[in-house]
Amino acid sequence: MNFLRRRLSDSSFIANLPNGYMTDLQRPDPPPPPPPTAAAPAPAPRQSPSASPAPERRPQSAQSSATGFFSSITNVVKQTAASAGLVEQTAAAAPKRFKVLLLHANWILILYMIIFHCLFQAEFSELNLVSYTNGTCNVDMQVIRNGSKVVRSFKPDFVLIRQHAFSMAQNEDFRNLIIGLQYAGIPSVNSLESIYNMCDKPWAFSQLIGMYRKMGPEKFPLIEQTFYPNHKDMISMPTFPVVVKIGHAHSGMGKVKVDNHSDFQDIASVVAITKTYATTEPFIDAKYDIRVQKIGTNYKAYMRTSISGNWKTNTGSAMLEQVAMTDKYKLWVDTCSEILGGLDICAVKAIHGKDGRDYITEVVGSSMQLIGEHQAEDRQIISEIVLAKMNQTVARPSANSPQRPPTTVQPSQGSPLNEGLTDASKIPGQRPPPQGCLQYILDCNGVAVGPKQVQAK
Ligand code: ATP
Repeated sequence: MNFLRRRLSDSSFIANLPNGYMTDLQRPDPPPPPPPTAAAPAPAPRQSPSASPAPERRPQSAQSSATGFFSSITNVVKQTAASAGLVEQTAAAAPKRFKVLLLHANWILILYMIIFHCLFQAEFSELNLVSYTNGTCNVDMQVIRNGSKVVRSFKPDFVLIRQHAFSMAQNEDFRNLIIGLQYAGIPSVNSLESIYNMCDKPWAFSQLIGMYRKMGPEKFPLIEQTFYPNHKDMISMPTFPVVVKIGHAHSGMGKVKVDNHSDFQDIASVVAITKTYATTEPFIDAKYDIRVQKIGTNYKAYMRTSISGNWKTNTGSAMLEQVAMTDKYKLWVDTCSEILGGLDICAVKAIHGKDGRDYITEVVGSSMQLIGEHQAEDRQIISEIVLAKMNQTVARPSANSPQRPPTTVQPSQGSPLNEGLTDASKIPGQRPPPQGCLQYILDCNGVAVGPKQVQAK
């Protein structure tokens, strides 16, 4: 709540609202939708934003001003979606409330989902699931509340994945969950196929090799790399220094600079006990790192220079600077997006050497960290992508939809789950969700602070 207030009092946030939003903030609330009857537990059809009848003016009271606040948020989000062509604007539109699983936070999306859909925000480690051939995916979310372990159940209609599905360094392997979601055909950003394909860096790199062969080193300057499935053939290297990258890990983990043959042998012995693959690359004496990101049709390029002197610029302190998007950078990132199946969110990483040459080292997908000054904008664009994708995929009448009954998990009265929660049904101006729909209220960091079974009145 405070977070929303802060955002709405933030002048840059207000300044970025499209025309008419501030006027909209003054308007009284639209009437609430008719409550579903016991005989009709299905979600009540909702009026589209533009088709809402003109609300009657009511006397102002403390409650109505609070109502107006939430209604304003609703309207802002509705109009954002409508202006982006993300929601139906006809009177006939009566979308169901989708159950959306967010693997990581995105406040704009969270806000939208709180208002329009059921949102489940989680980390992979909190989830388990069962998938069936009829397209049903039952997700169990296990959370700790006041020291007690509680399991929530739901059937997601859409997934946004902003977390690494696999990391050897953290001993985290969630590929089984990616498979489960894919098995049930749950639409996702990025595609589940691409997320699975990027769970082994050398596998993703092999796609880049294909492009390098096709486009040539001028247009696609991929770094030279050697792949070892295990330590056995890690015997000698023609030139030093090299960078040895062990297994699939992130944030600089498992990357070692090796200056000579005997150190290389030592590292090979370490690889032997990791029971995984390794790659080697020539060590590039870097002037700076480059990251070119593409989020939908929005492109940004950044340059990162180490301040602390660490050869890994993502370790220790570094200086980040946004640089101009050039045709060259755009070609790199578009190429990577395309070869991995049309990634909605991706970034190409490269090193600019002191020799004046660029070396592409890696492509990253929707789990990429947002960096730089425009992260709020990036999150907004991610939200728009998700909403557009939801419109394209889950909003279409699907054979699965009627088969998916609403979740009916009911936290017991006085259970730790209910403590300290905000009840969405009691927020003035908040549309009550359909009967049986689990609603999650999120704290300002986008972390789920608790689910609440909200019964439509
Ligand atoms: P991520 O977290 O994106 O999954 P990572 O940080 O674990 O990846 P890399 O980006 O490959 O792994 O390497 C970390 C840093 O090490 C890079 O940002 C770059 O500064 C440096 N680096 C990587 N490869 C080389 C190389 N061949 N020569 C010189 N420096 C390199």
